[in-house]
Amino acid sequence: MTVTQVIYNPADIDFTRPGKHHYQVAFHLDGTWGYSLVPLTVINGARGTNPNGIVCFGGTHGNEYEGQIAVKRLANDLNPGEMSGRVILIPQLSESACIANTRTSPLDGVNMNRAFPGNARGTISYRISNFVKTRIFPQVRIVIDLHAGGKEGAFPICTSFHPIPDTAQQAETAKVARLFDPPFVFIYAGTMASGLLTDEAEAEGKVTIGAELGGGETTDRQGVRHGYEGMINVLRNYGLVAGAPQRIRSQSAADPILVKADQLQYYVPCPRDGVWEPNVDLGDWVEAGAVLGRLHDFSNHATRPLEIEAPRAGYVAMMHLSARPVKGQTLFVVADKVEWSEVAAG
Ligand SMILES: [Zn+2]
Repeated sequence: MTVTQVIYNPADIDFTRPGKHHYQVAFHLDGTWGYSLVPLTVINGARGTNPNGIVCFGGTHGNEYEGQIAVKRLANDLNPGEMSGRVILIPQLSESACIANTRTSPLDGVNMNRAFPGNARGTISYRISNFVKTRIFPQVRIVIDLHAGGKEGAFPICTSFHPIPDTAQQAETAKVARLFDPPFVFIYAGTMASGLLTDEAEAEGKVTIGAELGGGETTDRQGVRHGYEGMINVLRNYGLVAGAPQRIRSQSAADPILVKADQLQYYVPCPRDGVWEPNVDLGDWVEAGAVLGRLHDFSNHATRPLEIEAPRAGYVAMMHLSARPVKGQTLFVVADKVEWSEVAAG
């Protein structure tokens, strides 16, 4: 059996050790004796150094599985004898949430993807995010965080990034997002939330993307494939493994469609509680005024449903997943189409 070493003091991890090494980083629990054991694999290739260290996270949200599986497979499959440079793999960052099949950690109720930059003296999720910020980020230049929609939001398979003021950083980020060959690449609003893992990496000047590879606490087969093969493409692109990046969908598939929803008004809140009947599919192109879905009120079944219309023409980049949205939850995003040349280096 492959040896997995328990790490009690993060300072004991030797990130320069040649070969592939599996660890479990022990973060002490707040309420009882014991630990959350966060899985970590560090690979240093035998074929020399490479300035582009890469980290890939799964399980930042516990009930999103494609990333967890893709990153675990990478930890198994990558052969340091055939690689250069450094790869760090963390398949279950919020390990307690992954065990519990929940978005947030049941230990402190904290959403790991709002916990950055963390706090060395905070509750467990803040201590884990602080570990990422202070121990992992200094080792890498490229940061990948693989998500899926969870129980609330549903997305077409996509990779994503924020609008980035630095044009060179944005162009490289867009290129990495495209290496996953998803049907959509989504430029989303940085003002939607704060404390994201990718926010923190981006602020440090790293090339960082997120991804939505499925949803609904299922495992999307294509989502796992895009996560795994996409990461291999990233390793190829930066020369950590040999070969050129390859298409993941068929050769005849269309290029990834680049869409943008960079203003808060694109994220439309549900106007009232109800039972949601979608009228379009994720990824559909809709015209302004198209009926996206209907909100039914069963307190009087004789009433007509409230029809929810597209405020603009664009692609349906997100819709509420569950049939029971509540007032204020994001119901849908209709995103603008953008040309790839707009995010290329000037
Ligand atoms: Zn997520």
